Amino acid sequence: MNYISTRGQAPTLGFEQAMLTGLARDGGLYVPETIPEMSADAIAALAGLSYEETAFRVMLPFIGEAFDAAEFRAIIAAAYAGFDHVARAPLVQLDANHFLLELFHGPTLAFKDFAMQLIGQLFRASLARSGQRVTIVGATSGDTGSAAIEAFAGLDNVDVVILYPHGKVSEVQRRQMTTPAAANVHAIALDGNFDDCQARLKDMFNDHAFRDEVGLAGVNSINWARVLAQVVYYFTAAVSLGAPHRKVSFTVPTGNFGDVFAGYIAKRMGLPIDRLVIATNQNDILHRCLTGGAYLTDQVVPSISPSMDIQVSSNFERALFDAYDRDGGAVAQLMQELAGGGFTVSQGALQALREHFDSGRASEAETAATIARTLEATGELLCPHSAVAVKVAEEQRDPAVPMITLATAHPAKFPDAVEAATGQRPGLPRFMANLYDRPERVTRASNDLSALQSLIRERRSH
Ligand SMILES: *Cc1c(COP(=O)(O)O)cnc(C)c1O
Repeated sequence: MNYISTRGQAPTLGFEQAMLTGLARDGGLYVPETIPEMSADAIAALAGLSYEETAFRVMLPFIGEAFDAAEFRAIIAAAYAGFDHVARAPLVQLDANHFLLELFHGPTLAFKDFAMQLIGQLFRASLARSGQRVTIVGATSGDTGSAAIEAFAGLDNVDVVILYPHGKVSEVQRRQMTTPAAANVHAIALDGNFDDCQARLKDMFNDHAFRDEVGLAGVNSINWARVLAQVVYYFTAAVSLGAPHRKVSFTVPTGNFGDVFAGYIAKRMGLPIDRLVIATNQNDILHRCLTGGAYLTDQVVPSISPSMDIQVSSNFERALFDAYDRDGGAVAQLMQELAGGGFTVSQGALQALREHFDSGRASEAETAATIARTLEATGELLCPHSAVAVKVAEEQRDPAVPMITLATAHPAKFPDAVEAATGQRPGLPRFMANLYDRPERVTRASNDLSALQSLIRERRSH
């Protein structure tokens, strides 16, 4: 299986190199050259299998020769062993034909564990084989950073450096990043917002000398291996509700577009998905783009669903690449315009996007009201991100088609917002109960590329 860049100018890579590289050298994102299809029979055969076995069958065609079958099975087993629920991604019912896919039973209580735990094991296997040493640098609005730290802490041949926006993550998120004791973990609080963190990360990748010097590797949601890991739970959820014999729809709380893009890949592989609904909070650039065709960046307005507080949605580039018939030159042009504030999607491309995606937004008040109303009606306590999606799903769903709404974080990750909405303060699961007692370790840094680069050079030499 070969991977090509969305901007058409970077070398074609195999799975392993695309994973270790993250961002392509032309600034683009790696995508599979072709999408392997799964027949209806192969999908039907997933019924009743464990999460791990489904993961193996869904992902294997994308891996190519990178790992042999036994090794890949062992990697998957290790990745999901630390989850707190035997089903890994259980479905619960909210209403007639409306289901919630709980993706928060991993070690850091957010769906990002699904991808990050897998990628940690993949890196470990790959680096052990090559003896290579890498520096993983990630930018996070909260959940990616803790998931990466949890997945890579203590692994050989890896340093993990996480940039998060100072003062703009929840206390639980911060503590999950600053309390791990492993020496290869480095949390950096950047003076800026998430888009600044993401921009500095991109700058580092575009500085090829620095990139080679420190063996830079990326595990942000642009990393193809992360998207791939997320394809799996679309299959487990759809199959448990009757696919391939019955269509289902999904609503996905969306920020960087990695999660919903994984749903799109599942659909392209042959999973019968009717609608993929992009749910945004008040930072609704994707919703505005899908409805009006203009992708115009604005100020980030902090919300109670901070992991969706972004204006530059990186993985959207992958959807644009397909919508523009895989014309890397056209995508590179759009991304150049984006640097100047935005671009307009062509009519043809917009139509192509709308064939797969719907969109909606929830205001802060609607989000809070949805948390309260859902608790009242079902007993399920939603995190604010999941509540954004439940609100949008309720508005848009076709009652005849099962709607699966993705619950992306445990409510205890955002206790203040949940308590404000319901009067109930969600407790942390037992395995994390002493989080508030552990000592924190973090470096504050200004939003300056060369200062960050020096800091990283210094840290990885220890
Ligand atoms: C990261 C995150 C999202 C957004 O996911 P994307 O793949 O970036 O669109 C939504 N909810 C939570 C809780 C997250 O951590």
